[in-house]
Amino acid sequence: MVNRILVPWAMPQAGKEVLQNSKAEIIYLHGPRGEVPEFKELIKEVRHVDVLIPRGTQSISKQVIMTNTDLRGIANYGVGYDNIDVITATRLGIPVTNTPGVLTETTADLAWALLMATARLIPQAHIYTISGQWKGPGSKVFMGLDIGPGGSNRPKTLGIIGFGRIGRTVVERSRGFKMKVLAYDPFLKKMIEKTRGVQYRQLKNLLKESDFVSLHCPLTKKTFHLIGEKELNLMKPTSILINTSRGPVLDEKALVIALKKGRIAGAGLDVYEKEPRLYPGLTKLKNVVLLPHIGSATRDTREQMSVVAAKNALAMLKGVKPPDIVNPQVFNSPKYKQKLMS
Ligand code: NAD
Repeated sequence: MVNRILVPWAMPQAGKEVLQNSKAEIIYLHGPRGEVPEFKELIKEVRHVDVLIPRGTQSISKQVIMTNTDLRGIANYGVGYDNIDVITATRLGIPVTNTPGVLTETTADLAWALLMATARLIPQAHIYTISGQWKGPGSKVFMGLDIGPGGSNRPKTLGIIGFGRIGRTVVERSRGFKMKVLAYDPFLKKMIEKTRGVQYRQLKNLLKESDFVSLHCPLTKKTFHLIGEKELNLMKPTSILINTSRGPVLDEKALVIALKKGRIAGAGLDVYEKEPRLYPGLTKLKNVVLLPHIGSATRDTREQMSVVAAKNALAMLKGVKPPDIVNPQVFNSPKYKQKLMS
């Protein structure tokens, strides 16, 4: 029997090479410019494969999974796996994996770049310069906010929400800026308290005290709209919010209102509630920097992510425990054991 793996997007070459070295039949499904398939097309192919490798932003809903309950694995290309209905997969004895670690440094770089760009109004100043509006002395001055201690020598406070791999790596980026660092993570209070140069704060206090707040938690039922109107109102009017986690962690409607009313000074976003749609009014604001979900987007990192996803997929195809399993309980389920025997 030939095993089949479906890759419904344009996978980098490095991942393809890993898959090619297996005996499995690999089905690539995407448009000429890498366009992902429509839902109907996806469903049609999912029916006939053993393992699926979706992109991190491709919805693998209950409906998709139910079209093939015999799936032997879903190997997500991304560390966040909120795009997959893991509860349904687990119930059906389907292992799910992600790509942790290989994208940590790159995503932390992007979060830091976004923080700096938002604070110093870099994209706005760039547009002003290239559009010929700069007329020398007397022209508009882009007055930004200090990231380091600035002329008054007051160190700024960075608040990290979600002290996981990326959150901690953003803290490393802040060291050269002499910042005071606060962190909130309900699962890692002890680790935070033991980390040199980082103080634990409850969410409320972190929001009140920080000059920069950066979101690094996963999207779960508990983190949906973790930052809404009430939380934004706690922040300083001079503070900046950065979101490179997942769009729905932040209530975009509340954010637009807070930015319009000057309740916070600015926001840098890489992710949105309903990608690729942006909340009405967001693009009209002068105090935002908006990116098209490029946190892990460097050639090197995307290649490594594809290798990790491919290796996870092949392990699941063989019935071996994959390195990056997110629902390990599946291996004890009778449904999974049945699949291995069939
Ligand atoms: P991680 O699992 O190492 O860290 C996430 C941390 O969030 C964990 O320590 C966890 O305890 C914490 N957390 C969970 N619930 C929380 C809550 N209610 N409040 C505060 N913290 C909470 O994951 P990671 O590798 O650091 O990635 C973090 C997230 O970043 C991913 O889940 C993904 O959604 C997002 N991400 C985005 C991009 C991008 O392109 N913008 C790229 C990579 C990752």
